This record gives sequence, structure tokens and C-alpha cells, in this order.
Amino acid sequence: MVHVSIDRDKCQGYGNCIMEAPDVFDLDNDGLVTLLDSGEIDATQPGVIGAVKSCPVHALRLRDE
Ligand code: SF4
Repeated sequence: MVHVSIDRDKCQGYGNCIMEAPDVFDLDNDGLVTLLDSGEIDATQPGVIGAVKSCPVHALRLRDE
């Protein structure tokens, strides 16, 4: 299964991922990406692949497990 990992050290808070998958990603009070559901992100969820591709700083990565 393919999961997505987030790297908050890279995130610049552009919000592209939220536009692509608003049910999965959000910005926290620091303006950095966070998960609405704190569990693993399954890359088959709607918009997730688009979110990974849209992140300009590659803070979202696909991880094959
Ligand atoms: S698109 Fe990338 S930089 Fe923008 S909020 Fe999402 S993870 Fe952060």
C-alpha cells in the first residue's frame, strides 16, 4: 500500500495540498501542514496524489509499504 508522509520542516504553508485534498490536509496555528485525521494517509484517497504533486517544496512524499 502507498502512504504519504509529511515533512513539516520543509512545509512553507502555501496551502496547495489543502486545495487538492481539503478532507485530508489542513494548516495548523503555525501555518504548517497537518493532517485532519492524525492517522496514516492512504494515497488512494481523493486528491492525495494531486496534493503530493502540487507541493512546491516537496514536503509531501509517497512511501511504498
Ligand atoms: S503544499 Fe506543501 S508547502 Fe504547501 S501547505 Fe502543503 S505541504 Fe506545506
